[in-house]
Amino acid sequence: MASQYSGDDFYCDVAIPAPERLDVVHEDDLVLAFHHTRPYWRTHIVVVPKQHIPSFTTLTSADEKVARRLFAVVQAIATETERTTGAAAVLTNLGDYQDSKHLHIHVHSGPRT
Ligand SMILES: [Zn+2]
Repeated sequence: MASQYSGDDFYCDVAIPAPERLDVVHEDDLVLAFHHTRPYWRTHIVVVPKQHIPSFTTLTSADEKVARRLFAVVQAIATETERTTGAAAVLTNLGDYQDSKHLHIHVHSGPRT
């Protein structure tokens, strides 16, 4: 599925409507986290809000509830990744660096795949 997708919002179009097709790490009413379908690193988890928010720089105070939940999930996954692998990085891309125009936060560890 991911390999054929050519749009600019993989999360709204593919991931969030059909999480059963993903390797889900966490799901609740606001947030979905799953192992990246095309991982760049040995451990590569993506955390997204289920509601459409374009990017980290478009977050506003109106998104406070979902932002708090999102960061709580990122923190829990980063903590577990650090515990199990000894290191982790938390990353979100912006502008031309951001392929999918839906806020997503990468938690990764280990060498590039
Ligand atoms: Zn979206």
